[in-house]
Amino acid sequence: MPIPIRSCIACRKRENFSELLRIVRIGNQVLPDEDREKFGRGAWLHRTCFDVAKDRRSFQRAFRTDENLSIDLLEKYLEN
Ligand SMILES: [Zn+2]
Repeated sequence: MPIPIRSCIACRKRENFSELLRIVRIGNQVLPDEDREKFGRGAWLHRTCFDVAKDRRSFQRAFRTDENLSIDLLEKYLEN
């Protein structure tokens, strides 16, 4: 089985998906999807790239929206 490769939304580096955190947009919230089982549009992010993603508005780009997305829960999750 080939290993799935995904791109980090912040730094764009292509990576074995196990190196990245899957995130999903549910409503206006961006949530971590640790088990990669949540429904909804997914995107992928290095845990260490969160601040870069925040600065570059990578979440809006990844989820193709101009709306403000809440990333508070994701931020809290990554702090722990
Ligand atoms: Zn990255």
